[in-house]
Amino acid sequence: MTTHSSSAQILDGKALSVQVLDELQATVSARIAAGKSQPGLATVLVGDDPASHIYVRNKRRACKKVGVASFHHELPAETGQRRLLELIEKLNQDPKVHGILIQLPLPKGFDYDENEVLSTIHADKDADGFHPFNQGALLQGREAPIPCTPKGVMRLLDLAKLDLSGLHAVVVGRSNIVGKPVALLLLARNMTVTICHSRTKDLAAEVRRADVVVAAVGISELVQGDWIKPGAVVLDVGINRNAEGKLVGDVDFHAACQNAAWITPVPGGVGPMTIGMLLQNTVEAASLKD
Ligand code: NAP
Repeated sequence: MTTHSSSAQILDGKALSVQVLDELQATVSARIAAGKSQPGLATVLVGDDPASHIYVRNKRRACKKVGVASFHHELPAETGQRRLLELIEKLNQDPKVHGILIQLPLPKGFDYDENEVLSTIHADKDADGFHPFNQGALLQGREAPIPCTPKGVMRLLDLAKLDLSGLHAVVVGRSNIVGKPVALLLLARNMTVTICHSRTKDLAAEVRRADVVVAAVGISELVQGDWIKPGAVVLDVGINRNAEGKLVGDVDFHAACQNAAWITPVPGGVGPMTIGMLLQNTVEAASLKD
């Protein structure tokens, strides 16, 4: 962990993700040495979105690094829902596959129904934690695969070693993949949680009350530095390009550093954690089959 020039300490997702992958590599080697199955992740890419190609390539590279078997399927954009669901059913039945990832978004203008596609993945193989059954389990506080980015946010928050119980968390954003699951995970740690969104009347006033702020909006530097309560922990999920084409988060990082005790940078904060958590979900799914 490094110290920023101002008071805030950096929650270094790049370093933590390397540690997570190293730990997973050791876990996978120990499994194989003990004669257990090699964990396997199937990735499915539909269409030719360049960003999706890069994301999937990075996920496959990480599989190779930790010793998780990678089964990759590429389908043309016009494949259609029926054939995609058939492939998912096949992967559901394949004992070598412990996790299934459908790279989102699915191509626009074809007959794909994202909810139906994600619901077809067997809940036990839901490496992304997006299946409605698993999201329901999270709501009820039961064991289930947890969405990767929220899981990464919690791992970073743990670096601050705070007693979270009774503290106030403000989550900005209420998507099913980030905002809502993060809020539930914070609630499970006995935090008092406020969820803000585009209709929130006074966002600044809400954020000013937060001991922990999670920003998951997708608007460059929406959260101002002077909104951050002195000593707060700031976790910035946003990945945006600002007017100069620079990668920035949803929080004005430099200004927020003046008040925060801990903060994630963008890039190098929450982003790198997501792949590590995906592989962790896959390895955990394999160990449930032992
Ligand atoms: P999303 O589905 O677009 O949701 C954005 C949320 O922000 C919505 O709930 C929206 O409110 C809220 N919002 C929009 N404008 C707002 C405003 N002015 N004030 C307060 N809230 C506002 O986005 P997402 O998928 O959750 O992603 C959020 C950000 O995280 C994006 O920058 C994305 O690129 C990034 N991300 C990063 C990772 C990673 O690090 N690996 C993973 C996933 C996402 P309404 O619900 O009212 O519309």
